Amino acid sequence: MTEGTNLLVETLLGEGRREPDRAAVRWGDDVWTFGSLDALSARLARVLVADFSVASGDRVAVRVPTRPEVLALNVACARVGALYVPLNPAYTDPEVHGLLDDASPVILVGEGPRGRREPVVGLDELLERARTRPDRFEDRAGDEDTPAAILFTSGTTGRPKGAVLSQGNLVFGCTTLNRVWGIGRDDVLVHPLPLFHVHGLFVAAYCALAAGATMRLLPSFEVGAVLDALAEGTVMMGVPTHYTRLLADERLTAESVRGVRLFVSGSAPMRVSTHEAFTARTGHRILERYGTTETGMIASNPLDGERRVGTVGPALPGVEVRLAGTPPGRVEVRGPNVLSGYWNRPDQPARGPDGFFDTGDLGRLDADGYLEIVGRAKDLVITGGLNVYPKQVEQAIDALDGVEESAVVGLTDRDFGEVVVAVVVTRPGAELTADGIRAALREVLAPYKIPKRVVLAGALARNAMGKVEKARLRRALEEGTGPVG
Ligand code: AMP
Repeated sequence: MTEGTNLLVETLLGEGRREPDRAAVRWGDDVWTFGSLDALSARLARVLVADFSVASGDRVAVRVPTRPEVLALNVACARVGALYVPLNPAYTDPEVHGLLDDASPVILVGEGPRGRREPVVGLDELLERARTRPDRFEDRAGDEDTPAAILFTSGTTGRPKGAVLSQGNLVFGCTTLNRVWGIGRDDVLVHPLPLFHVHGLFVAAYCALAAGATMRLLPSFEVGAVLDALAEGTVMMGVPTHYTRLLADERLTAESVRGVRLFVSGSAPMRVSTHEAFTARTGHRILERYGTTETGMIASNPLDGERRVGTVGPALPGVEVRLAGTPPGRVEVRGPNVLSGYWNRPDQPARGPDGFFDTGDLGRLDADGYLEIVGRAKDLVITGGLNVYPKQVEQAIDALDGVEESAVVGLTDRDFGEVVVAVVVTRPGAELTADGIRAALREVLAPYKIPKRVVLAGALARNAMGKVEKARLRRALEEGTGPVG
């Protein structure tokens, strides 16, 4: 690809370039202006090309905790036409090996497991190399179809697959959201979300950058820090667990958030009681929206019209939503937001012949087009806004010595929305304990995937087809009644 206009870079830096001295990111006491982000992204782009021969279409894997430089690195990848592959730093080495083998990046930035083929370079080393490079870079051309990122999501098989998102997908997403949520230069976004996830990077950070707004970036969600940030913020984006944690703190009052005009929630369903408690405490109605990694945002309650609690609002402008099958039907989506395919999976098309993507969620549409997500047809647990695929946890448990079989379910939880719970059947004579199983899993699974509870059982309840009856298991565990096996 030749040098030229790069749609994504223009979108993310265009507004900021008009006034490079404006604050793009506040990080502790540091301020990153749009100009300094732009310059660092150019220097990093030079390092990627000159020192690591990164070319258009190559993958750059990034496994680092949140910091503002990560945003510059993300933009640098867009400038050189490389696909940005963010990895959750909490993933264990075995998890990371699998993802890297699939993505085959030219470089891994951050901490790497031993024995990798590709160079593993710490972010600080990359920044040190970048320090002396010129702060201009001739961007590679990029348009709607240019692949920009790979985000791993696990299918029902428990084997993660990489959703390939194009510049067009990402630009449509943030520009549409900025329009419907009225996000502009004067906004200050409170951003406590991780930068390796669609919500933190492509919704929160991209909206703020594209709007020329300022983001107050936080290394993680910590109630005190978020409350401090809210004192200066105008918009917050979070997951339901963030809101229940804010509510659990008495310092959250209408007064403490008086400068905020919009609270957005998504990535997991928000309970009606959380909506109500938040309104009672602060006077704000949280705006709930809905999306997936593969499609970016799909639907949103309106900024100005009626926000209906229990729904995720109508489809975004330019996005089509339909329900397949008898109500509640599977939510299917078509539009410029939808990915074109999965990395290395030509045999698993992401979209049907008519271009619709099946989200695996179950929904209902009301007469005004408001979408209600009533459940999931896919086996997925969302805990604190992060997805856990039971199949992956079951495979890890089943691989332990002395385990006969296992079933993993999500149980309702006030704080996390859902928590991971495992029912494990051990082999005769095996001396496994619940704590022992949890400890062994820590070697192979990221902490948020480790079951909060492990229940040892004699057998698993199965239906006539021999399939484990997860709904029954869940009920027995939730009510604490009856045998789980
Ligand atoms: P992710 O790919 O991590 O963004 O997770 C996407 C999944 O999160 C969706 O398929 C839904 O199951 C769930 N989800 C996201 N937002 C909402 C919401 N507002 N209400 C209910 N479920 C949601």
